[in-house]
Amino acid sequence: MLRVDTPETPTSNFVEIKWREYSFFTHYHLDHILGLLNFQPVYQRDQKINFYGPLSGDKTCEEVLKKLFNDPYHPIALTDLPSRQDFKTMAGGEQLSFTTNEEEDKPVIVETIALNHPGGALGYKVTYQEKSFAYITDVVLGDAKGRSEILKFIKHVDLMVTDTTYSNEDYVKMPMKRSWGHSSWEEAVELVKAAEVKRLVLFHLDPNKDDRELDRILREGKKAFTGLEILREEDTVELET
Ligand SMILES: [Zn+2]
Ligand SMILES: [Zn+2]
Repeated sequence: MLRVDTPETPTSNFVEIKWREYSFFTHYHLDHILGLLNFQPVYQRDQKINFYGPLSGDKTCEEVLKKLFNDPYHPIALTDLPSRQDFKTMAGGEQLSFTTNEEEDKPVIVETIALNHPGGALGYKVTYQEKSFAYITDVVLGDAKGRSEILKFIKHVDLMVTDTTYSNEDYVKMPMKRSWGHSSWEEAVELVKAAEVKRLVLFHLDPNKDDRELDRILREGKKAFTGLEILREEDTVELET
């Protein structure tokens, strides 16, 4: 199973890989890692988990994740749990590939990009059987330099899941939100149109937005880009291969 981040309910699973868990972290803000405490594979014997994530200041992925499984947050150290773990710290621009199982020789390719977010974050692109998926969250799409790099990175992907915490209206009401490390759905729509992406899934939505507000964004957004969807709690997004 390949995952990106572990929020409270870890649901970002997209490719099944036999007997192995591959967990990629975009960064280590609590809304992205808290679910790891409840992530069942770490409590299972015979489970091998490969963790990947960026540096956090001078701390490696291994150092940061081990800190979560420690006093005062958790009673048992990660290394004392039954699973086996491996850690790799990654930077933007790196690429990995995995083979899914013995019968299937088409590899899963994972590429990374450094994102503009307080403390930094990594975006991921996964390509498997000629289909591609980009997971670009916790990012300032309003930053011109970062935006042009992301545009190249996501060009022609089939599906993009991205940070749309705000709307442009939120920025007008409270301009300081522009510097809080996130994006508006209008910025995301404009970007995927330029990058000729097929589907856009709005994600990392402001918890203050209720269902009526999300319905309104969906209606407005679809007028600008027909391939737009909103990811709500327990929704699944499928990308057929
Ligand atoms: Zn964040
Ligand atoms: Zn976040």
